[in-house]
Amino acid sequence: MEKAQEEKTLIIMKPDAIQRSLFGEILQRFERKGLKIIGVKMAKISDVLIEEHYSHLTEKPFFNTLKNYMQSSPVVLIALAGANAISATRLIVGPTKGYEADAGSIRGDYSLSGQSNLVHASDAPETAEVEIKRFFAEEELFDYQKPDYKLVYSEDHF
Ligand code: UDP
Ligand code: MG
Repeated sequence: MEKAQEEKTLIIMKPDAIQRSLFGEILQRFERKGLKIIGVKMAKISDVLIEEHYSHLTEKPFFNTLKNYMQSSPVVLIALAGANAISATRLIVGPTKGYEADAGSIRGDYSLSGQSNLVHASDAPETAEVEIKRFFAEEELFDYQKPDYKLVYSEDHF
């Protein structure tokens, strides 16, 4: 069987996740999946970084409210690693609009909004690489062994 690719992805716990005290609950879902935390920090996102991160949305009528929302409190930035981490994480997060997301996903369980949807997750290998670099300096990312990899993956996986 073909081995799934080891990938890295960026998660942002958005202001509503922090304000609604859902940070621990949400983080636990990624941890339980077996994903490895390789970077984590709290930050207030600057104007420049918001405009860069959501550059595909700057012309949209909702951009100003999106920016206000993303800057309404600190966020927590998390870099995760694992097999197929990008698509696996997007499945755990669910689609953009909380009111359309399946129960069992983070947005499906905790969000009723198309904007205040708790988490950002990178959507492709190219964006994941750029996004991790955008928010983390090299020395803030950690490469380490996790003994539970022996249980999470098959013996010959990596
Ligand atoms: N967003 C919004 N209104 C919309 C679409 C998106 O406020 O109609 C916000 C929402 O917070 C979303 C973020 O912009 O998570 C980024 O949009 P994208 O389409 O990249 O969705 P995502 O990748 O987060 O599912
Ligand atoms: Mg997106």
